[in-house]
Amino acid sequence: MANPSLLILAGDGIGPEVMAEVKKIIGWMGAKRGVTFDVTEDLVGGCAYDKHGVPLHDDTMAKAQEVDAVLLGAVGGPQYDTLDFSVKPERGLLRLRKEMDLFSNLRPAQCFDALADFSSLKKDVVAGLDIVIVRELTSGVYFGEPRGIFVEGNERVGINTQRYTESEIARVARSAFELARKRANKVCSMEKANVMESGILWRDVVQEIHDKEYPDVQLSHMYADNGAMQLVRWPKQFDVIVTDNLFGDVLSDCAAMLTGSLGMLPSASLGAPMANGRPKALYEPVHGSAPDIAGTGKANPIACILSFAMALRYSFDMGEDATRIEKAVEQVLADGLRTADLMGPQDGTPISTTQMGDAIVAA
Ligand code: ATP
Ligand code: MG
Repeated sequence: MANPSLLILAGDGIGPEVMAEVKKIIGWMGAKRGVTFDVTEDLVGGCAYDKHGVPLHDDTMAKAQEVDAVLLGAVGGPQYDTLDFSVKPERGLLRLRKEMDLFSNLRPAQCFDALADFSSLKKDVVAGLDIVIVRELTSGVYFGEPRGIFVEGNERVGINTQRYTESEIARVARSAFELARKRANKVCSMEKANVMESGILWRDVVQEIHDKEYPDVQLSHMYADNGAMQLVRWPKQFDVIVTDNLFGDVLSDCAAMLTGSLGMLPSASLGAPMANGRPKALYEPVHGSAPDIAGTGKANPIACILSFAMALRYSFDMGEDATRIEKAVEQVLADGLRTADLMGPQDGTPISTTQMGDAIVAA
């Protein structure tokens, strides 16, 4: 069988710094686990613009369509702020998302015990938390027509339209059910079926897909406002939450911050199944290129490392290795190792990006 293939796009700013630590883990897996990836590295964002005059070269785009998974660092930086909109670094990422048709955005909220004090919530509410929010990413109120600011009579009116087709709902529902089967087998779907037609359709379609294709998964429905409250009250009641673009935007930020620093948060964006049955996939840390700390060795590599762990679990069926990485992260945090973002000014001396990566590999 062919080796699993991975396209690494480290990007700009701290992107290459945190990605270097992921590469150590890939090296470890080859040496100690006999797992060899076909890794291709390429440019995205500002560094691609510097070389090719575009933030994503066509060859890179074609490669992204072929591989089992894309792992991305971060794009952008102040030196690119004055570029024309069409070649801004962020456009490279947007092109990847659009042409790979990544309609399902996975944002885990996972709380490591050693960091539970970092949360604004009580420790027992967040300790051991492990949930994933699946947000529909390519439709809904951010895209629906009509949209615009119009004049009606003697005043202006701002209009956006929440629009979902059955097939758009069905495909993101499937992606949530597939995910749940690799986890605690539980999905909670959130909408506002009490006041929105798109919510009624959402609930119907999710239930239909469940009954026909995923009857083994435990499914519940919740109004999104109640969902927001439950997420803060007792988040451990959830495993996978699936919701639309707008509610998902708000709920995933809320859930993410139950757990601590931006430097800890991974994400995945999934598309339609490829010939091998696995979805097209792009994994990336939630954080950006952090130009303020780029080059200083302060960046926390854990978000990028956990993004790679997600790739192992969801694109490569290597759940055991994913868990092994997560346990190693848990271990180094329990040992008290902290990058600067994970400590207050009085908490002693932080370790560097490379020291954190080395410690995780050793663990
Ligand atoms: P973007 O527009 O690319 O999302 P941004 O400015 O909104 O960029 P980040 O680049 O993520 O956001 O940076 C926000 C803050 O968080 C910065 O002060 C940055 O230094 C810090 N930060 C982000 N990622 C990390 C990390 N991995 N480790 C430590 N600090 C980080
Ligand atoms: Mg940002």
